[in-house]
Amino acid sequence: MGKVAINFKEGTIDQAEEEIIVGIDLGTTNSLVAYMDSGIARIIPDQVENTLLVPSVIFIDEENNILVGDAAKKQLSIQPNSTIYSVKRLLGKSFQEVANINSLTYQLKTEESSGAIKIKIREKYYDPIELSAMILSYLKKRAEQVLQKKIIKAVITVPSYFNDHQRQATRDAGKLAGLDVLRIVNEPTAASLAYGIGLNKQESKIVAVYDLGGGTFDISILRLEDGVFDVLSTHGDTALGGDDIDQAIISHWMQKYNLPKETSQIDRNRLRQLAEEAKICANGNALFQNEFNGVIVSLDSSELETVVLPFFERTMISCKNAIKDSKLKIEDIDEILLVGGSTRLEFIRKQLSQFFSKSVNTSLHPDHVVALGAAIQADILAGNNKDFLLIDVTPLSLGIETIGGLMDTIIARNSKVPISQARSYTTSIDGQKNLKIAIYQGERELVQHNFKLGEFTLKNIPPMPAGLPKIEIQFLIDPDGILKVKAKEIRTNTVQEIEIKSMQKLSEEQMAMMLIDSIKNAQTDLSVRGLIEIKNEVNYLITNYNRFLKQNETILTQEEKSTINSCIVDLQKVKESDDKDGIQSIVDHCNQLTEQIAHRIMDYSIQDALQGKGIADTNE
Ligand code: AMP
Repeated sequence: MGKVAINFKEGTIDQAEEEIIVGIDLGTTNSLVAYMDSGIARIIPDQVENTLLVPSVIFIDEENNILVGDAAKKQLSIQPNSTIYSVKRLLGKSFQEVANINSLTYQLKTEESSGAIKIKIREKYYDPIELSAMILSYLKKRAEQVLQKKIIKAVITVPSYFNDHQRQATRDAGKLAGLDVLRIVNEPTAASLAYGIGLNKQESKIVAVYDLGGGTFDISILRLEDGVFDVLSTHGDTALGGDDIDQAIISHWMQKYNLPKETSQIDRNRLRQLAEEAKICANGNALFQNEFNGVIVSLDSSELETVVLPFFERTMISCKNAIKDSKLKIEDIDEILLVGGSTRLEFIRKQLSQFFSKSVNTSLHPDHVVALGAAIQADILAGNNKDFLLIDVTPLSLGIETIGGLMDTIIARNSKVPISQARSYTTSIDGQKNLKIAIYQGERELVQHNFKLGEFTLKNIPPMPAGLPKIEIQFLIDPDGILKVKAKEIRTNTVQEIEIKSMQKLSEEQMAMMLIDSIKNAQTDLSVRGLIEIKNEVNYLITNYNRFLKQNETILTQEEKSTINSCIVDLQKVKESDDKDGIQSIVDHCNQLTEQIAHRIMDYSIQDALQGKGIADTNE
């Protein structure tokens, strides 16, 4: 692929010209974009303000104008319902997985059939992918303005604990932002590259990357061998960071100065600001003193150590678990790299260095190290670092067709070969006995635009209600590029498989054209996908409501039955519409109406069981 230069403006393939591939750190709190400038990795600053960090915040106004970064962050306290932050915590996740995040000031909605999350801003619904794409577009534009070049190709970093869905969602966000995402790189791998580890292919090393930011902590142990990084283990805490230390400083002051517990929002914000200032000041070994509502609050370095200690100890539990899982000993670790703003805390640096009996690497700015590493990885992919090992990768994504003709990617483009990836699916019709599995190659959201590689049928699935069978589909590419697809119904162990040998029959030009099309059509493709998904949700709800009515015929009141029936009528009516947000609001409305009924029936069944009518009956 490296030999084909794509002119995205014209949609043609050009003579190769030197191109810049940017590295992007798409962070929970802040994001950065970097590039290689004559062999040196540099963060690209804002042209006017000269700032490097872009707060990962998006604001959307009544006219659907979008603000990203500092300008959006300013709206956080003014219009919290329309200002989106921490979207990375929602990316590629289902509603159940984020149920414990309750501190968000904006509204989350769910699609029951897929579990997908939508964010409601006024009357519009946004996908976390769309919102992440807005941040990526902003970074792309920044890079284009500063470098005076069209930027198309990028490497984006993700935490090493990100699963398949989260990685695919990051790729999709890139595509939607008009970027060709060459590689998704683990953040600790990028940090290692920034420190020059992994640039010499003879080198073998074990690296521990300790990443403590504002809101999250993780530790990863990596093995570097023959120029390839392997994540041996990773542990962490998604609710532990510098913000918690600030909160603990506030609690410390509350006690020390007997401050009133009931404070106004303005006072709370000011206290939080003072606590962060105090932390940074005391960390620099100076005594912090300031006035708050007539009281002089202070913090010195030994008080700071006392406050930080329990948080440090919590990170050590994860560190010990990560070392245990990697099956290594502390002495085996060659390098300790620090990432994230909170690793500037001297106390943490000292304690870590004692624990590992080694000095810790702190020469690079902890906020920049991941983006710098991403730029280095991008440079390697651009072919500018000739020493680096070139590995075989999948030229296009591979996946299967799901309901509504959607492409569900199982192995992403540019994945290292050999590879094996699996994903679970289920049936959509009650009593379904056969499941057709059609395999496609390509980057578009609808299979009709991709290349079909083959299909087979998983037969003899025992009849079960829709959604109950668990079917695992595994894609395996061997070192010769041969794809094997295996489908297995887990409950009954029914297996069927197919081998596809002619995967690489596309020319480089055909593949390049496929990429051009996927980026040019990303916006339309994703909105078509969104429409199909919400229609799938409507069908799912209609089936469920009908089943619910039948099963609870005797328990439901007349009024409840007519509520559910009117929901079914509304959903049937809206099914043919092409207004995605309109359908979504009917779905939301029906969910709201039926939720209480479902709760009452559930309570009734539990009570029934407790009174001995349900479970006890079976014992008689
Ligand atoms: P990050 O999410 O990586 O940007 O890290 C942000 C966190 O780093 C915030 O909690 C900051 O208060 C903290 N931080 C930034 N500078 C310092 C410093 N000099 N000393 C201690 N903590 C800091």
